[in-house]
Formats: sequence, structure tokens, C-alpha cells
Amino acid sequence: MSTDNTNTSDISRYIQAICKHLALDHKAGPVADATSWFLGPKAENRALMEAQMTKALQANFQFREAYEADDPNFNSSASDQSGIQLQSAAIEPPLDKLLALLKYSLPMASYRNQSHMNWDITMPGVIGYVAAMLYNQNNVAAEASPVTTALEIVVGQDLCRMLGFEEQPQASGKTIIPWGHITCDGSIANGEAMWAARNLTYLPISLAAAIRLEPDMKAAHTVTVETCQGKRARLLSLTNWELLNLPVDEVLGLVERIEETTPVTAEAVQAAVEKYSLHSIGLMAMRERYLDDYNHAKPVICAPRTAHYSWPKSATLIGLGTHCVELIEVDDDGRMCMKSLRKVLAECLDKQQPVLQVVAVVGSTEEGAVDPLAEMVAIREEFREQGMEFVLHVDGAWGGYFRSMLQELDLDTVDYGTNIDEHPRLQLSEYVLQQLQAFSATDSITIDPHKSGFIPYPSGGLCYRNGAMRGLIKFTAPVVFHEGGDKNVGAYGIEGSKPGAAAASVYLSHAVIPLNRMGYGRLLGRCIFNNKRFYAALMAMPGDEDLFTITPLQRLPIEKSGGTAADIRAQIDFIRREIVPRENQELFDFFATANEDDTAKHALDIFRAIGSDLSIIAYAFNFKTADGVNTNVEFMNEMNDAIYDALSFKTIDIEQQGLQEVQPEQPDMIVTSSNFDPLNYGYDFVDHFARRAGLVIDQETQKNLPVSFIISTTQNPWLTSTSKGNFLDTLMEVLKATANAAAQQVMQRHNIQPPTIGRS
Ligand SMILES: *Cc1c(COP(=O)(O)O)cnc(C)c1O
Repeated sequence: MSTDNTNTSDISRYIQAICKHLALDHKAGPVADATSWFLGPKAENRALMEAQMTKALQANFQFREAYEADDPNFNSSASDQSGIQLQSAAIEPPLDKLLALLKYSLPMASYRNQSHMNWDITMPGVIGYVAAMLYNQNNVAAEASPVTTALEIVVGQDLCRMLGFEEQPQASGKTIIPWGHITCDGSIANGEAMWAARNLTYLPISLAAAIRLEPDMKAAHTVTVETCQGKRARLLSLTNWELLNLPVDEVLGLVERIEETTPVTAEAVQAAVEKYSLHSIGLMAMRERYLDDYNHAKPVICAPRTAHYSWPKSATLIGLGTHCVELIEVDDDGRMCMKSLRKVLAECLDKQQPVLQVVAVVGSTEEGAVDPLAEMVAIREEFREQGMEFVLHVDGAWGGYFRSMLQELDLDTVDYGTNIDEHPRLQLSEYVLQQLQAFSATDSITIDPHKSGFIPYPSGGLCYRNGAMRGLIKFTAPVVFHEGGDKNVGAYGIEGSKPGAAAASVYLSHAVIPLNRMGYGRLLGRCIFNNKRFYAALMAMPGDEDLFTITPLQRLPIEKSGGTAADIRAQIDFIRREIVPRENQELFDFFATANEDDTAKHALDIFRAIGSDLSIIAYAFNFKTADGVNTNVEFMNEMNDAIYDALSFKTIDIEQQGLQEVQPEQPDMIVTSSNFDPLNYGYDFVDHFARRAGLVIDQETQKNLPVSFIISTTQNPWLTSTSKGNFLDTLMEVLKATANAAAQQVMQRHNIQPPTIGRS
């Protein structure tokens, strides 16, 4: 049952000692040049990379030699010259083929990659990965990975601290200790979070049943808990509904409380509850035996309509089914609608359906939208007062690292400048800032180093405010949550074997690029800044002579405040004139005059307000005809699909061209695409967007048609400050030419009369 034995606690002490040695300095100050953190679009830092990589290799060679130095070598000729030649002859042809084939991959580190949520990976991330990978440690068990397990613990602590999960001393004298770990990805992290929330909700039912029915547990009948309404009561006096709505920390502390206030030991609880826990009997038996009200067995998970598909997927995996995921409406900005959330929660309260978890997405996958988390925290308080509790989770798989922009430094060590590097926080809207600050009030957060952490795959992450929560999904002894003891980080998750190298990669990257505004905050602040510039350039790009219009999901400030079409045109003209043509430094100098100059003030206000919540823009093209903007959704979809086809991975006729001779042809720019499907996003949301793009949707026949759009994620901190200045001009030329060609193509195909160009 308990996995503790002398051996594991020895390892535990050993690991603790290593952890101390590895501690990360989250107050680390500025570095001279952040471009030294990446290999670079043209492998500019190749010398640095080569030197560090060689060092990593050498260290491993020496490690092999040093252990039992007198042990024999391979009995082979590999070490003499002819042996080396022979072996090279065997490996080189397939290696050459592999290397040639790899050149057909997407050029992730290019300025032209404006597609998915990633760009280049950090050099320390790569070197840390390779250095540790040569040791091939398995973080499933501490004995198989003493060092890399310690790395995972340290990285987990670092992420928790950045996310606002701190140690919380309790009135009882106990301290709540946060805990985080590395998963293979964000989908798994989300799955674990949902699994833990489910187990947490039903645990009090199991415990109450065990106390009631097991002779060994009888003595625990006096144990008390505090309900979510702040009332202390005997566990056995609570109704099922009250048991299903106990506060998170109360549930996690229950077994300890039994142990401390009654003669029953934690081991006895563990043994007794086995027969009653959801973990062993499943939800069906749980319902039949212990849940008197059918609704109690119909749990709900709330997530916005923009939620990643790992949410419904997780719901099927843990046996709840996708129908238990209530997709909450989103507003025109793609943020969860609080009125709709309240409505769903109130219905659950009325019907006494337990809400296992409410998920806020911070940085939605396709829109970069940030849900109003601060308000969700307040809503949870309102419902607590009415006797309803739920686990509040943040899906920050992509957006979580943006919280590094909030970190404060020792002000004495910082030389304040006026450039974006010193003040990345300036790039955050007040709205987003508030939601990031609210992280600390939540229970669990998904954060993927392999998304905005610029870390190689596979590296996701899950952090718990109360580290005891991890015990809920431990396969053995999933009820007893003692601190210390088991340092097998791999025991608390879905995965089995997992790469210690991933933890090393994140560790080295965080050690070089601290999780504060001088490190990751600086990178991500630049990404938001560049995304605003991208947005400005995109809005200003179509001219009278062009055959297309662009409708961004993220509306211009003037459109948000209800401006007319003429007002919108005027704002675009202003952006085209005052923001787009300026290089970064000119723009900063211009903004710096905002106190004296009204135009500069206006430009700064607009710049602060435009673009995505974080750094993803969703936008759709439509074409102009002789009779005005096209109104047909299918034709518009054709146009956007054609643009995506032109600006995404090209298949190459390898049969025809052969492998080694050609440098593979790639598109001039890489974007991604998706569609607003009314079935996912809701009719109102899609209808509003369609109308803004000029479409007229026939509610009889076209109501269910998705609307295609293009997605650009600006994950490159140097997009607007290359050695040749702002690269956006090049990207806009590509988009312009591609969109004009697509417009022409669609109009020709459907015999639509194009506009008379030159006429305005
Ligand atoms: C990418 C993403 C996920 C899934 O993460 P993977 O690492 O791709 O499994 C989950 N949620 C959000 C919001 C994401 O952007």
C-alpha cells in the first residue's frame, strides 16, 4: 500500500539535497542581449551552440569512462581508423537521407512562420535536453532518475511561484504547499486536472460511507469538516449534496483530520476506503450504492466554447462523457460570457448537479482570448455562499508563461529605460493584467513549456495550488496525502515512463532565462508588442486597388465603442499614417511625446488597445465584387481556404524531383487556419462575425455552415527588429499578393464580376 520504505526515503533525502543545489534564481537581473538565448533564424549563434553541445557530449563521454574505469571496452575494431570508416559507411547513407528529408519540415524559426503557437526553441532548452538525454533517465521513478527527478521538482516549484501559487500557512498551523510537474503535453495536464477534480468531488461520499459501514472506521464518526459556507459540522451529518461541495482544502485535509482527531489511522482509512472509492468502484457503482439523488451522479464541467478539444476528450477518458462538459457561450472577443456561466451554475445548484470543475482558458488556442478569471473567482464566492463549491482551473497551456511579465525585480538592481524590454508589462492590457493576477486564487493551472516556454517537445505542465491534490490521481494509495515521503514525481500522473531530459531542458532554460520580466517576460512582452504591430499592419494593408477586405476577430477600438463604418475607416487611416510606417525606435520616441502631443497620445492609446489579448490574431478575408463586398459564405470560405493552401506546407513530388538535389520549395509565409463552427462557437458568435465580414447568412440553409478564417501567432520576439528593421512589410506584401490572387480565382470560378479597380 504505502510505497514508503527505507530505500525511497533515502532517495528522498538525496533528492532534496540535489534540489537545494539546483535552486533557480527568480530575481535574476537583465542580460545584455536576449538574442543569445536562441540559435536564430539563420543559425547566427551557431558557434555558441556548437561549443555548448560539444561540452554536453564530452561530459557524457567522461562519465562513461570514469565509472569503473578498468571495466573492459567493446571487443570491436571501432576505435581504429578502418573500423571508424566501416561504421561511418553504414550510418552515413541513411543519415544523409534523414537529414535531406528533414529539410522538408516547416521552417519553425523563420520570421515567416506566423502560424501555430510556437517559433524557435531556446538554446539552453535544446542543450539541456541533449545533455540529459545522453543519460536517458526515466522520471517515472526516482531510483531511475535521481538527478532529473530533482530537476522536475525544482522546475515545478519555479512554475508554481511564477503562477502565483505560494506556500500558504493555515490557521491550524499547517502549511499548504503548491506542487507542479512536467507532463508530456497540455492535453495530458488538462486530463489530470479533470481527473483530480472528479476524484476530489466524490471522495467525501466514499469517506462518509466507509465511516458509516466499516467496523474499523466507526471511531471516526465524530470527525468534523468545515462546509463551503463556513459552517463546522460532523461529516456524517452532511447530506450528499453538502459532501459533494466541500472546499478543496477541507477534502484534502480530511484523512489527516481523521487521524488527528479520532483513534483511526490514515492507514486504516486507506484500507477501508478502498471498497468505497470512485477510484476502485467507478461512477456507476458509486451512483447505485451511495448517491440517493440521480442528479448527484450527473456531474458538470464548465469550459468556454473556445476550449481546447482536450477537455471533451478528457471527459470521455475518465468516463464522464463529453455531454458533461457544458460549453459556455463566448462574447464577440472570444471570452467566456459571465452571464451564461452564472446561468449554468445556477441551474446546477437548483438541480443539485455537482460542478466538478470550472475551466478558464487563458489564451485560447485559436484566438489568444483570455477569459475573465477575476470575475470567475468572485462568482465562485457567490456560489459558495449558496452551498456550491467547485475546482477552478486555468488552462494556460499556451498563455501561462505570460504571467512572467508580472514579476517584480529588486528595483535597486534595475536600470529603467524607456524601451519595451524594460517594461514588458506595458504591453498587457489592464484587462489581461487583472486576469493574470487572479491565477493565485485558482486551484490548478495547465502550463506548457513547449508552447510559450520555447522548449522542445514533449513538455507540458500541471501545477496545483494545494500540492496534496496530486495524491488524488496517484495510482496506489490515492487517499492518503502525506507530505514528504514519496518523491516519485512520476507517480502522480497519467504517464508511465517519461523523459528526464524534458525536465532538464526546462530547467536549463529557466536558469538562463528567468521567469520574470527580464527573462521570459521580456520575450513575451515583445511577442505581444509584435502582435500589435502585426495587427496594425494587417488593418492598414488593403488599399482601394485591392480586391479584398480583412475582418479581424479582434475589433478595432472604435468598432468596440460602436463607431460607424466611416469612423472605422478613419481609425484605419490614422493607424496607417501614424503607426505602421514607423520603425520601433521611432515609434517609442513618438509615444514618448504623448504628454505634449495629442496625435502621439491618440496613437499610444490606440496601440495599447489593439490586437489580441495575448498574441494570436484571427482574421478572415472577403472579396470585393462589382456590387460591393461578397455576401456568400461558401465563396468567402473558398477564398480563405485558398489563402491557407498557398501559405501552408507544400507537398512536393518527391518521386519526380528526387531527394538530394532540390532545396525544397516552401511557401513565402506560413499561417494556419480554422473555422468558426456554429456548433462549437454558438450561432450568435458566428453570426456576428459573419455580418462584420459582410456576409448574409441564409438562416434556413446556411445556419450551420462554419466560417473559415486565418490564424497568425506572433511568437517571434524579433519580428519587427531584424537586422533590416521591421519584417512586417515583407509579410504584408505576401499576404496582399496571395489574397488578391485568391479573390481573383474565386470570382473567376463563379463568374462573379470583379470591381472596377481605381474607382473608389
Ligand atoms: C495547446 C493547448 C492545449 C493542448 O496542449 P498540447 O500540449 O498540444 O497537448 C490545451 N489547451 C490550450 C488552451 C492549448 O492552447
